[in-house]
Amino acid sequence: MIDEITIQRIIDTSRIDEVVSEFVNLKKRGSNYIGLCPFHNEKSPSFSVSPVKGIYKCFGCGKAGNAVNFLMDHDHMLYPDALRWLAKKYNIEIHEKEISVEEIAKRDERESLFVATTFAHEFFTNTIQKTEEGKAVGLAYFHERNFRDDIIKKFELGYSPDKATTFYNHAIKSGYKPEFLLKAGLINKGNFDSFSGRVIFPIHNLSGRVVGFTGRILNKEKSPAKYYNSPESEIFHKGKILFGLYLAKKSIAEKDRCYLVEGNADVVSMHQSGIENCVASSGTALSVDQIALIKRFTKNITLLYDSDPAGIKAAIRGIDLLLEEGMHIKVVLLPEGEDPDSFAQSHSQAELFEFLNKEEKDFFAFKTTVLLKDAGKDPVKRSEVLNDIVKSLALIPDNILRSLYIKDCSRLLKIEEQLLHSEVAKRIIGKRTEYSSNVRPSDIIGNSPETPKISSIIDDFYAEEQEFEILRLIFLYGNRVIYKEKQEDDEIEQTVVKYVIQELVNDELELKNLVNHRIFEIFCEQLKSYGYIEPKELIYHTDDVIQELAADRLNTPYYRAQIKGQSDLLSKYYKRIGILVKTEDAKLKDSLPRVIIRYKIKILELVNKDIIDKLSMAQEVNASQEIIDDLLLQHNENRKILQEMYSIYGQVVR
Ligand code: ZN
Repeated sequence: MIDEITIQRIIDTSRIDEVVSEFVNLKKRGSNYIGLCPFHNEKSPSFSVSPVKGIYKCFGCGKAGNAVNFLMDHDHMLYPDALRWLAKKYNIEIHEKEISVEEIAKRDERESLFVATTFAHEFFTNTIQKTEEGKAVGLAYFHERNFRDDIIKKFELGYSPDKATTFYNHAIKSGYKPEFLLKAGLINKGNFDSFSGRVIFPIHNLSGRVVGFTGRILNKEKSPAKYYNSPESEIFHKGKILFGLYLAKKSIAEKDRCYLVEGNADVVSMHQSGIENCVASSGTALSVDQIALIKRFTKNITLLYDSDPAGIKAAIRGIDLLLEEGMHIKVVLLPEGEDPDSFAQSHSQAELFEFLNKEEKDFFAFKTTVLLKDAGKDPVKRSEVLNDIVKSLALIPDNILRSLYIKDCSRLLKIEEQLLHSEVAKRIIGKRTEYSSNVRPSDIIGNSPETPKISSIIDDFYAEEQEFEILRLIFLYGNRVIYKEKQEDDEIEQTVVKYVIQELVNDELELKNLVNHRIFEIFCEQLKSYGYIEPKELIYHTDDVIQELAADRLNTPYYRAQIKGQSDLLSKYYKRIGILVKTEDAKLKDSLPRVIIRYKIKILELVNKDIIDKLSMAQEVNASQEIIDDLLLQHNENRKILQEMYSIYGQVVR
């Protein structure tokens, strides 16, 4: 337990920008900082940090809070752990009592996994440093690999005894439940140690907590599997973690470059040789989540590969993903028979630096050379190479960078630059119009029976304010009847929520903010099963984000009273601000359609902007007249509809 005064001191001392920048690469913008949001995947920054207010806020996904919230959200820390983390960062001393076995039992599963993993981590490092077997076998192995003692300690490398139940017995004696040891992958179903007889590479998350291990077997006869990795669990997700990133992140941000290698030992050796900005994907194919982790610190990535054909193929595979994420990629091919581990160890630091700088090839030059060599003089194969390169070039989101690469590739492929440009342009425009060519503005306001989705073309931007306003009205007045409609013999009551759903569904519009989207879906489900909506149910939703957002929007005296069932308080409240409520209430019949029209206008404006972007791109790359004409036609139609909408809305046509 931490006392209140210390808590206050921790909160007062913590600087939000310093805390967030441990995890996110922030750039100064006025008195604030901006960066790529760590809570959702994005290409342009909408995550803002205000040192003055002590808060962060994402305009993309809506996450917001102070330094403590950030740690709780980002690293799934519990409140006291977030405070401890901050206290450690700011050298604030806290006295707390030891955690008892009962308290361990009380923690939730996630925390139990963390506790069990930390316990195992301490056991492995103690074993290698302090026991006879650990020193004679584990430490000796690392020494044999020429790992220095300071590096072994820095990476917190460990060893698990060869006897199959040493760890298990120790853990049980210390009060740990087999259930959590099993879930954390530390023991197997027969209660035998998973890592016995293995040297241990602990895997840290970004805030430095150990979430899993890679164990390398020393006696090959004992197990056919050279490596054993912690299984997927509540705390360990292989595709969302990079070995060494915790130790490398500072250097990656400073050097503005990240070296990517395959194995954990490669990272350790590179680090030992002074290349500290190095991480490993631990044998798995690179995932979008892992790229997003790197992208928080740099856009520049250099892949280090062995020169065997498999290594080269590995280098080319999966790179498209990096290109799409806007990363700038270089490749270094090591001399034959070397891997990063052996190469770093057999060369001085100066030699290693020089080699990396000299041998660093641009990814496109590398790919083109390799593929051309493979194709030889076969014309069919050569045209396949061209297609392949064009496909990759078209993925680069940045225009200037793409042009530079096109120049390089045209030289290597011996193809006129202009021709390559227009091939790439065809592909890009083809890709973009795949989504949008069949979208006619008339579809958006619902005149056409065939209404394709337009949501896919507005990935990077959305009508944030309008979405917010629509949801606000649903939260507050969702079940309010705005008018009654005769349908055959029945009289249908049109409520706010039904009206909005009808308007959006008819035009196949979808709210873009994922949280808004999910909430809207929940309202649709509620309407289907109850015939009305229950916004306050969302406060008990299993998803924290939805809970928070609902609590925030419903945090009005009106709702508080309703939830508590205090109807007298409710009527008092009504009386007090009755006029106000009635005003908005009475106006709903007019204001709601206006809000919806405003939303549709915003969407049309976004589509318009998209068409103009495409037009200028088409002109820039000398696209065919046919493509340009088609875009101009779309542009005109869109403008017409927009003007109609403006006049409906009662605005002066711009
Ligand atoms: Zn976000």
